[in-house]
Amino acid sequence: MANGLAGITLRINLTDNKIHRLPTDERLMREWYGGRGIVAKMIYDEVPRDADPLGEQNVLVVSAGILSGCFIPGGSKVEFGSVSPLTNLPGDSNMGGHFGPAIKFAGYDLLMIGGISKKPVYLYIDNDVVEIRDASKYWGMGSLDTESQLKQEVGEDFEVVTIGPAAENGILFSCISHDYGRQAGRTGQGAVMGSKRLKAIVVRGNRSIHVHDLPSLSKHVMGIIDRTKKHPNMIPWQKYGTSFFMKWSNDNGVMPTHNFQTTYYEDIDKVDGEQLVEKCLVNHKACFGCWMNCGKYSKVSIPGKPVVFVEGPEYETGALCGPNLGMKDITHVAYINWMCDNLGMDTMSAGGVIGFAMECFEKGLITESDLEGHSLKWGSLDDIEHFLNMVVNKRGMGAWFALGTKRAAEMIKGGAEKFAMQVKGQEMSGYDGRWAPGMALSYMTADIGAHHNRSWTITTDMAEGRESVEGRAKIIIYLQHIRPLFDVFCICRLFWGELDVTFEEMIEALNDVTGWDVTPEEALKTSERIWNLNRCHFLERNRKNGRDFDYPPARTWEDKIPTGPGKGKGVTYAMIERMLDDYYAGRGWDKQGNPTREILEDLGLGFAVQRLDDIGLLGKPIPGGIPSVRGEKYNPKAF
Ligand code: SF4
Repeated sequence: MANGLAGITLRINLTDNKIHRLPTDERLMREWYGGRGIVAKMIYDEVPRDADPLGEQNVLVVSAGILSGCFIPGGSKVEFGSVSPLTNLPGDSNMGGHFGPAIKFAGYDLLMIGGISKKPVYLYIDNDVVEIRDASKYWGMGSLDTESQLKQEVGEDFEVVTIGPAAENGILFSCISHDYGRQAGRTGQGAVMGSKRLKAIVVRGNRSIHVHDLPSLSKHVMGIIDRTKKHPNMIPWQKYGTSFFMKWSNDNGVMPTHNFQTTYYEDIDKVDGEQLVEKCLVNHKACFGCWMNCGKYSKVSIPGKPVVFVEGPEYETGALCGPNLGMKDITHVAYINWMCDNLGMDTMSAGGVIGFAMECFEKGLITESDLEGHSLKWGSLDDIEHFLNMVVNKRGMGAWFALGTKRAAEMIKGGAEKFAMQVKGQEMSGYDGRWAPGMALSYMTADIGAHHNRSWTITTDMAEGRESVEGRAKIIIYLQHIRPLFDVFCICRLFWGELDVTFEEMIEALNDVTGWDVTPEEALKTSERIWNLNRCHFLERNRKNGRDFDYPPARTWEDKIPTGPGKGKGVTYAMIERMLDDYYAGRGWDKQGNPTREILEDLGLGFAVQRLDDIGLLGKPIPGGIPSVRGEKYNPKAF
């Protein structure tokens, strides 16, 4: 077995209940590095281009990456991927907690789960024992409740991932949940798991992971421990977690407010990190291998509602289910967080969908008669609770919103597309990009739709000039190569990025564990290969020029920011066109956003050339050949 790998890949077909154990393909792992890389390659190779994302042929890939479970700071992550039913793109999402390490300790690198079970099942993994077990009694149960019940059945020392009723009912922004508050939230991976009638995966293992050079790894990691424990960011991150960021975002005019109508929330003091700590916090939580414990475990007591416990709200949930919905009480935001977690919905998309529906209600595009006699007013917890109930059960118009904002807007009509805040069907993260043009371009070009973790540029936008787009594409391309490497190696970006651990240290740790000879340049080029593979896959599935899919909703350029520090600001359509032109040129794609033969062959993706050519989407050759800015180091600190 190669160092850093557990050694076994499990292939599971739920249609015929077949389980195959295969040696992990070391050559493929070296080429694609595991995690998000191997997930992208497996989906590209195995899912037919016309396969229904919720059908038998879609494959849910679970990858515990190379550094997950190792003696590495934040080595806690696990990657889930499949063709997304929300975006019709190759989709992926990851979570922290303890599940990824547990898979490695049980002896597995990859789970490839295909088919559809006839009845609800869960996958039981206890070292070499792998079984498909009946889960009928858990079907319909909330994610948090299922985790607790399953642990009573199999043992508290198992790590558990579950889906909730949202995924069972095919809500397209459903998530996969773990550890009472960690989620693989984005791109509807829960909906894929639900379509397979796979309610949960439980895993326990007690094996070791072989490491190439333990003394060197220990020296490097002990150095990181010594340095980070004195880092000034450690204390605020430990105290507030990411909710620390709520006030900062608001002060800097990027807080999505009332469905991204404005970027500044007057009542931020009622829903920020201080309020979370004062009114909700009961304990701090950390993932495997982390001493930053950014997880905030909360107790929520609201008169007339059950007392509930939830991890959060962290920043994204806080922003999108707080100011974005006009909430004025942190306990109400935490209660929405709990509802989404137990129903098994991505809190980020849910916040986007609810905010979009609230604006539709405000504008009269939907009325009380569409909402079973209820209203949907900014800040009303009861209205939100009723609306979520309609969505999760697909009652009446709830069935439209169950498909996400993009499809709901197409059905509602009346100009709703303009303020459906998504790109490629994926609801935006908790930052408004109108006064941060790099962030707007990040959303437009992210390979899974509008998600911030591929490249986050607010501070870079501030440094480079918030009303200029000059040079922005080059920065985004660099970030889109370096940041996703965290999801490739399955370590936590938050720990590394916020405590100034360097990219070079990441590569050192990788080589210590594996014995490989990866260089920073090679890692960036591999990341670029993954990015281009996903673009090819996307074009092959959607069969139109890439540029057609890369525009944000019209609010982005039509509506100037009405209040706050960004008042009167906003990107123009010309700026958006310029950024796209620069971006495609920087990537070696043609003006239509399609990769060229030259770039694909340079990245070792020659096998994709013919496929794109066959459907008329191979990029036209670019005068001057492959650009030189790809992967160029912009700022080594900018994780
Ligand atoms: Fe988990 Fe937070 Fe630590 Fe990252 S920083 S590993 S999310 S506890």
